[in-house]
Amino acid sequence: MGEPGEPAVIGVDIGGTKIAAGRVTASGAVAARAVRATPRTGGAQAVLAAVVEMVGELGPAEAVGVGAPGVVDVAGGRVLSATEVLPGWAGAEVGTALRAALGVPVAVDNDVRVMALGELCAGAGRGARDLLFVSVGTGVGGALALDGRIRHGSAWSAGELGHLLVPHEGAVPCGCGRRDHLEAAASGPAIVAEYRRRGGEPVDGLPEVAARMRAGDAVAAEVIAAAATLVGRAVAGLVDAIGVQRVVVGGGVASIGAAYVQHVADAFRAEVLPPLRDVPVVAAELGTDAPLVGAAELARRREGDR
Ligand SMILES: [Zn+2]
Repeated sequence: MGEPGEPAVIGVDIGGTKIAAGRVTASGAVAARAVRATPRTGGAQAVLAAVVEMVGELGPAEAVGVGAPGVVDVAGGRVLSATEVLPGWAGAEVGTALRAALGVPVAVDNDVRVMALGELCAGAGRGARDLLFVSVGTGVGGALALDGRIRHGSAWSAGELGHLLVPHEGAVPCGCGRRDHLEAAASGPAIVAEYRRRGGEPVDGLPEVAARMRAGDAVAAEVIAAAATLVGRAVAGLVDAIGVQRVVVGGGVASIGAAYVQHVADAFRAEVLPPLRDVPVVAAELGTDAPLVGAAELARRREGDR
């Protein structure tokens, strides 16, 4: 629990398979948590009802922050569009519905933006004002912070770096359908598909390809290094264009080992303009706590806006 008298702020991370919630202290520690499976039926209404119950389990809250999949209109707390990761999620009035049910201020942002905010305030981004967060997992995305604030751009899409063009035909389609986008070549599913395409042993998923790399499988090592190199090169071009102080690499693929982030950093350094070669490229630190910490920070910042 937080310090006596400290506002109790709860961060919520809504995912396609599970919902996590945590009571987060002002210093960014998760003091109590709740997790449950995301309802598969009942659409957004069932998902938001589960969130209300979980917040209730964690005790009274003065404010709630939510990280949600899809493109989120942060001002309105509304999901503008979403993939089928959560059926019926597009159009969900997350902010309005939760404020009405909980009776406290509720702030909502895209899940990757929220992870980035967690790393910025309490993780690998601490102390940086201008930061690029790169998330490599089932998809490839990211977030941009300038002057200590997550930026969203005119269509709430700022940070969506998965659609950067890469000189490689990906083994799976990007979420948008293209094959020559970073996500198509560097996501977790892309690495697994590329490993199969290169004649590697049959594998279930990314953890198995990563285990094979660690066991000395040369094809697994090459496929993972090649995917990481594409990320590093694409990110270098982006950093040339916008100029940040630090790059933080997170997500499920980044967590397969230090070698992955090292490949990203090496490719970045070989590609980026000379004045930016000292920009650190580092691994995210908070893991699955990042969205909880970031969502709570989002709620605190929005409270301060009032
Ligand atoms: Zn794309």
